[in-house]
Amino acid sequence: MRKACLSLVLIAALVPALRSARAPAPVYVTLWFDTEDYLLPQDDDATKRLAEFLSQLGVRATFKIVGEKARVLERRGRSDVIAALKRHDIGYHSNTHSQQPTIAVYLQNAGWEDGRAEFKRREQPGVDDIRRIFGVTPVAYGQPGSAWAPQTYPALRDMGIRVYLDEADQVGLDDQPFYYGGMLNIFRMRSTLVRMALSGGSSLTEGQAAFDRVHAALTARGGGTISIYYHPNEWVQAEFWDAVNFRRGANPAPGEWKPPRMRPAAETEQAFADFEKFVRFIKAKDGVRFVTATELAQLYADRALGRDFGRADVLAIARAVQKDFDFLKSDGYALSGADMFTLLTDAAAAVVDTKKLPAAIRLTAIDGPAQAFTPSTGQLRSSSFSWDAFGTAIRDTAAYYRVHRRMPDEVWIGAENLSPVEYLATLGASLEQFLTSGTLPAGVDRKSARTTFERYVAEDSTKLWGWIIFPEGFHAPRVMELARLQAWTLKPALLNR
Ligand SMILES: [Zn+2]
Repeated sequence: MRKACLSLVLIAALVPALRSARAPAPVYVTLWFDTEDYLLPQDDDATKRLAEFLSQLGVRATFKIVGEKARVLERRGRSDVIAALKRHDIGYHSNTHSQQPTIAVYLQNAGWEDGRAEFKRREQPGVDDIRRIFGVTPVAYGQPGSAWAPQTYPALRDMGIRVYLDEADQVGLDDQPFYYGGMLNIFRMRSTLVRMALSGGSSLTEGQAAFDRVHAALTARGGGTISIYYHPNEWVQAEFWDAVNFRRGANPAPGEWKPPRMRPAAETEQAFADFEKFVRFIKAKDGVRFVTATELAQLYADRALGRDFGRADVLAIARAVQKDFDFLKSDGYALSGADMFTLLTDAAAAVVDTKKLPAAIRLTAIDGPAQAFTPSTGQLRSSSFSWDAFGTAIRDTAAYYRVHRRMPDEVWIGAENLSPVEYLATLGASLEQFLTSGTLPAGVDRKSARTTFERYVAEDSTKLWGWIIFPEGFHAPRVMELARLQAWTLKPALLNR
């Protein structure tokens, strides 16, 4: 008896060690619902049933709610649905979703600042209603359909929204979470997106097999995040509520809106049964954890912020920006082009003022430029500048982004301008010289380099904007040009363990 007990103690002591040696790579599953149908009352019941089933199972999801849907729930007296939703993360999914003009349509000709202001003007009332009805600031946002635009990011940050959670093709990084526009993005997840069909038959077995494939692939990569999304209306409607009314730019008056056709009750029940089994199947997997947008923001918190960057870091960045360069991935943190821009500028501004590098520099996060570079007119095109003139430009640049919270479109040295990348390469070379020789250069040569992070942003095409609610043939070249400029803010989001 005594011996047996000792063996048990030994085994008990060994098991945690064995388990940690074989611990599977962590796989996080984020389950989100675009809660948007404000026409069909049956959608309210489907929303409640999903929210309550998940709560009973101990799974928290992220429900991105349309402003008009929240108001409709309130008007219909559905405090029960609101209470069920409150037990999950609350996100925002635009004020009116598919009513024309949709977001990418009304931003197609806008610039950076005016686009940001216009999105805020149209969308802030929906956020205010979500806050009033649900008692929280939405943690995440995602656009209706593929109505994505980069000007939404600074406006969303102004509204206190921290995570961009959706799926479309405009920008993405290796099918995993990334930073862009100063927000954590779970977007363009493609191969790590799983959706079980809700059409009965082999839906469940195929969904489980799809999950297993993605899970295995992510485990082989050392872990990561799987994105799963639905709309509560998929359980109850035979056709999408908005396609019935707003298809291809259609703009009927509210009195003419038609409810979508309903699915037969048996189909709805089958879809609920399959979904419940699917969620239980995922929850039972070893090493798999359901996470909300709030938890993702913690898991992928940007560790470059608040980090002390020292001499070796500055030198490494100064060298990196003198040739073709991408974002920089280091041990436990990553830097975007804009991060490197401010780190080097702040370092150099201190050198200009004090003739020495500070012991530590903290990151100032800013947006990318607002328009493509245009060389100044006139005959000047100097191949070198005095250190005094360049030093003035460095201080001006630091002052610029402290006021505008974004990169300048151009950097002025006297009466001629440098593109942001020319400035950064020139700055990198002069800082490298200072750090390796200990003396300030008398003059600096104009350098050039190329950024490569734009390749993560899609080219404009009608295919990119294939959402059925857009007018036929819609595409948005200016939106995608701005999107490429904001690629300065792109970097991978790294899992904090
Ligand atoms: Zn939607």
